[in-house]
Amino acid sequence: MSCSTLLDIATLAEYWLGTLDAEEEESVEEHLFACEECGMRLDWAIALAEELSAVTREGALLTVVSETFLKRAEEQGLRVRQYAPPAGGSVQCTVTAQDDLLVGRLVANLDAAKKVDLSLCDPDGVEHFRLCDIPFEPAASSVLWQQSITFAKAAPTSTMVARLIDVDESGSESLLGEYTFCHTRTLPGPSAW
Ligand SMILES: [Zn+2]
Repeated sequence: MSCSTLLDIATLAEYWLGTLDAEEEESVEEHLFACEECGMRLDWAIALAEELSAVTREGALLTVVSETFLKRAEEQGLRVRQYAPPAGGSVQCTVTAQDDLLVGRLVANLDAAKKVDLSLCDPDGVEHFRLCDIPFEPAASSVLWQQSITFAKAAPTSTMVARLIDVDESGSESLLGEYTFCHTRTLPGPSAW
């Protein structure tokens, strides 16, 4: 199986949701009829759309995913772009039109952590978004932060700082790790903001 014109996940999700125009829908349908590989991708797109809509219902534009989710995504042929900056360090990153998922691997010692928040800040340290009480494995050495691929594809060249914060019972916070993502826009066309 090797499809040379893989239907992208967004198109498959739209096909499933019935939001493509008639012409696009027909061409996707024809392709799916002939292509087993994209048929499997459609199954994945449906599962993913369900998972993502669960996330969207919670009001989050981004999420934390498990190693299993990531492995399954790769097995399904999704193009996962992953960056792993060292704690306290930075990484140069981008996103291309072909990428399906964008993941930041945040390496931290979680042994003693009780409740962990993921905070997203600008380079001046001003927090713009926080995911509270994220799921994590105490024995794991990292947290997988999935940035919204839609957001990333629309984004201009910019720098974002992710922080993992341990919050104790009294609400006081200690920093587990800080990770700087220096994003360069490489997609053609203007950014959305
Ligand atoms: Zn195909």
